[in-house]
Amino acid sequence: ERVLVPRGWKKKPVVLLFTVCRPGFFKASPHSPSCSKCPPHSYTLDEASTSCLCEEHYFRRESDPPTMACTRPPSAPRSAISNVNETSVFLEWIPPADTGGRKDVSYYIACKKCNSHSGLCEACGGHVRYLPQQTGLKNTSVMMVDLLAHTNYTFEIEAVNGVSDQNPGARQFVSVNVTTNQAAPSPVSSVKKGKITKNSISLSWQEPDRPNGIILEYEIKYFEKDQETSYTIIKSKETMITADGLKPGSAYVFQIRARTAAGYGGFSRRFEFETSPVSVAASSDQSQIPIIVVSVTVGVILLAVVIGFLLSGSCCDHGCGWASSLRAVAYPSLTWRCGYSKAKQDPEEEKMHFHNGHIKLPGVRTYIDPHTYEDPNQAVHEFAKEIEASCITIERVIGAGEFGEVCSGRLKLQGKREFPVAIKTLKVGYTEKQRRDFLGEASIMGQFDHPNIIHLEGVVTKSKPVMIVTEYMENGSLDTFLKKNDGQFTVIQLVGMLRGIASGMKYLSDMGYVHRDLAARNILINSNLVCKVSDFGLSRVLEDDPEAAYTTRGGKIPIRWTAPEAIAFRKFTSASDVWSYGIVMWEVMSYGERPYWEMTNQDVIKAVEEGYRLPSPMDCPAALYQLMLDCWQKDRNSRPKFDEIVSMLDKLIRNPSSLKTLVNASSRVSNLLVEHSPVGSGAYRSVGEWLEAIKMGRYTEIFMENGYSSMDAVAQVTLEDLRRLGVTLVGHQKKIMNSLQEMKVQLVNGMVPL
Ligand code: AMP
Repeated sequence: ERVLVPRGWKKKPVVLLFTVCRPGFFKASPHSPSCSKCPPHSYTLDEASTSCLCEEHYFRRESDPPTMACTRPPSAPRSAISNVNETSVFLEWIPPADTGGRKDVSYYIACKKCNSHSGLCEACGGHVRYLPQQTGLKNTSVMMVDLLAHTNYTFEIEAVNGVSDQNPGARQFVSVNVTTNQAAPSPVSSVKKGKITKNSISLSWQEPDRPNGIILEYEIKYFEKDQETSYTIIKSKETMITADGLKPGSAYVFQIRARTAAGYGGFSRRFEFETSPVSVAASSDQSQIPIIVVSVTVGVILLAVVIGFLLSGSCCDHGCGWASSLRAVAYPSLTWRCGYSKAKQDPEEEKMHFHNGHIKLPGVRTYIDPHTYEDPNQAVHEFAKEIEASCITIERVIGAGEFGEVCSGRLKLQGKREFPVAIKTLKVGYTEKQRRDFLGEASIMGQFDHPNIIHLEGVVTKSKPVMIVTEYMENGSLDTFLKKNDGQFTVIQLVGMLRGIASGMKYLSDMGYVHRDLAARNILINSNLVCKVSDFGLSRVLEDDPEAAYTTRGGKIPIRWTAPEAIAFRKFTSASDVWSYGIVMWEVMSYGERPYWEMTNQDVIKAVEEGYRLPSPMDCPAALYQLMLDCWQKDRNSRPKFDEIVSMLDKLIRNPSSLKTLVNASSRVSNLLVEHSPVGSGAYRSVGEWLEAIKMGRYTEIFMENGYSSMDAVAQVTLEDLRRLGVTLVGHQKKIMNSLQEMKVQLVNGMVPL
């Protein structure tokens, strides 16, 4: 630092002290008393600098103070994972290792739609919605919705900060490839009226904006304005129909929805059109005739349904009763043995009439046991498409089924591109029963239409070998896949698999189908890690399963996967499927470990009966192990339902930090079973101790926060209170209320100090 005396100051010079900074130092204002060293990643080569220059690849924002270090764009985000749910994708990642020295890191999502054959990608366009947003994301997760079904997408997650826009270098991003699943079509948005007469209205419409697959048919619902309780449904494969038999000079309301393999989309908005007024020549009485005929027909059909129902006790062995009479309506193309028949008209156009809401709405489907068919061949052809053998190319053997080899290959259907399939064959020399049982699986599978249920393409029955063709699942069966990839997945990926299985099982239970052999070996997994439930059969399922053992009551049961009531008295229900689902959870979280290891079946039955349960797998989130224990409640009514399991897993996926608490290693007993005591009795010193004892420890905090901090206060809890506290699972409500009840009884006897 030197002292400068300005020229021209002679007399009484006022000495101004200017400090001139050396290279490497700067002074932002000449009035500052001293020089500062250049902040990190900046320099000066000149004397008397008022600021420092940034080093190469480092930048400064205009708003950054000169005393602040120069910064650079962040590195790429890390460990991105995806979860696909139909046409929504959830992405999550870890912040970049290098934030570039700034705190203002945010994320930007670039979306590309890619062609699976050419590999070429294009920008996604405006139809994709990002939750909460596409740019400036502060959190490390995002959800994309309204994607196209069955489409390959690449998402690039880029980390940006305040100086990214000054960086001429390459963008720093991590990319994730996903394929969306099938989804129902979007609603039909535009409907035009065509020819209108006094008794008919012709309509045409455009395919939905997002068909999400091939449209199999449209359903047109219409009714006279303000008469919504009496409506007519027409089905059509074309995008036009004529509704006839209408009243002259009357307004009618129309709604249309499309169906793909993924099910029905939503109905369009209401479109209102009016028939021409009646002319003098055509009397209004005449024009009333068609609608009267319709009403009479409806009446006759309803009467037949009711009479069929009343007489059905002797004519159906399976699934008769009101539920199956509803099925007859939900499946109009079936011929029913119980005295009612289909309302099929034109193969291209089916029409059904509904009155006063007495008949189940279409679209709500119920499983039909193929046993209810006298001729099983008829069942196969009702539910499965016949494929010509020449359309199939068999490539290699991938597995062995009970009835013959399982192969991979390709299927080329007319007007569609060739795609990979799995082909199950029926070996030569089969008996008629074997053929029937083999095709029984197709009759069942063909009734299902869900992204987490293996999809049936069709059957070959008109030539030999007889074959069942399904979608191809690249990673094969889940148990083998997990064993091969031990420890390779994130918890979120494993929960994603479990969510898929639960969603498939929810669909099956909603359809009234009980699987009976749910196990990881019967789940298939594709290259996107989407899990699908497979192995459907009649009695055959259990006969085939090498895990199934004969019970003392006869019949084969896969003991380790089966609920006690199903082993003891063959009570197979969706609740026993939930028990098996708990075992599948355990298999998944332990990467394909054998449940109960090498214990004998007899020992497993005994241990479970005595209240022992499998211990938590290693590194298992406590919330998941708790869900397993819930599935293994002795009382089947206390087990969660599949829809509850799906929502619980969704909640965990949306809030991944809830999976961070792992089951305490010391409470994990590695090769012993854990005691699953029934609702505890005895004195509890605290609310926490009581809730822990009845395995409801997760609610302790909520109880305490809401003033139930003593057993005295807890004694007053009502069911309403529990709901208010967020105890929504019916099983949990029952458990807590039962325990309270038990304690109150004991209190009366002077046993529990409440
Ligand atoms: P299954 O008779 O259904 O148990 O099939 C026997 C084996 O064939 C399975 O364990 C799988 O490894 C394989 N497999 C069956 N179906 C498929 C499919 N759709 N995609 C891929 N592999 C399959």
